[in-house]
Amino acid sequence: MTKTLLMLPGDGIGPEVTAQARRVAERLIEQGLALDIGEARFGGVAIDADGMPLTADTLTLAKASDAVLMGAVGGPQWADQPYGNRPEAGLLALRSGMNVYANLRPALCFAALADASSLKRALVEGLDILFVRELTGGVYFGEPRGIETLPDGQRRGVNTHVYTTSEIQRVARTAFALARGRKGEVVSAEKSNVMEAGLLWREEVQALRDAEYPDIRLTHMLADNMAMQLVKNPKQFDVILTDNLFGDMLSDEAGMLTGSLGMLPSAAIGDAGMPGLYEPIHGSAPDIAGRGVANPSASILSLAMALRYSLGAPELAAKVEAAVEAALDGGARTADLGGTMTTAAMGDAVLAHLA
Ligand code: ATP
Ligand code: MG
Repeated sequence: MTKTLLMLPGDGIGPEVTAQARRVAERLIEQGLALDIGEARFGGVAIDADGMPLTADTLTLAKASDAVLMGAVGGPQWADQPYGNRPEAGLLALRSGMNVYANLRPALCFAALADASSLKRALVEGLDILFVRELTGGVYFGEPRGIETLPDGQRRGVNTHVYTTSEIQRVARTAFALARGRKGEVVSAEKSNVMEAGLLWREEVQALRDAEYPDIRLTHMLADNMAMQLVKNPKQFDVILTDNLFGDMLSDEAGMLTGSLGMLPSAAIGDAGMPGLYEPIHGSAPDIAGRGVANPSASILSLAMALRYSLGAPELAAKVEAAVEAALDGGARTADLGGTMTTAAMGDAVLAHLA
């Protein structure tokens, strides 16, 4: 059956990098992939044209697609919009509207780029970690929250770190299922020594593993220790399961072990059969937008993740990833990787390996 991919190019370098991912998708269609590609306005461009970053029509389109490939949103021209009408608010509305609660962030080190890592080559060559980060709960969303003034005149800021059994179980299931297709290992990070929601996290993850995934090797690690282990010996990890807060920090840390922001894709997925949202880790990069020099690799690798997790074509995902790796091995480099190639030339280099 023909699958559908909705492209939301967005702002800044978003349209430049997604254009290259689109060329890759179109090449795969020529080669027999049954895929329909649509496109819609999202982010700052939608504020300018439609008065809001995410229209109801675009959200409906997204939910009716099999996968959504986003560029990036935001830029200085929309920074003084009221918060609810900023491009970034559109992104949160899209994530929650699509109910994508599991954020998948690979930290994969390409051999050709290992010297760009913040660690020595020997520590990162062959690194292949998959973070599964809870995305729609925890301290970023917990109630009560706010800033209040106390009777003595002091102000108090409040956030609540809260998780329910079902929120923990659904993201843990995602991690265990993905681990089955990899090394069968999961390391789960929390601070169960000092946080109640962290203790519940540990108990529920362990109980789920014992009941439904006895084949998976599960280890629990305190998040601060993991921060240290990631720079000491990152290759000890395969699948890492975290809550929203710790995953935010630890996956950024791991990303920098791999070299460049321009190489890092991500996915946000929900229940099986529901559409996933795919996007580069990087932002709209207003400083280089419009110059055709951005690295499109993260966008192309995000397309590969969409092929693997939402479009039922894992073999094509591997083919696209291999083409990016072959382009790098052949010396293809945009400016962020120390080269001089344009965005389109980098796209050409990848396409050359998709013949
Ligand atoms: P946002 O708030 O939108 O996430 P940010 O402040 O985190 O933005 P990015 O837009 O991710 O920043 O950019 C950070 C730096 O990395 C900028 O100097 C930008 O030019 C560079 N950069 C980001 N993405 C790319 C890319 N694909 N290719 C080359 N350079 C990039
Ligand atoms: Mg950013």
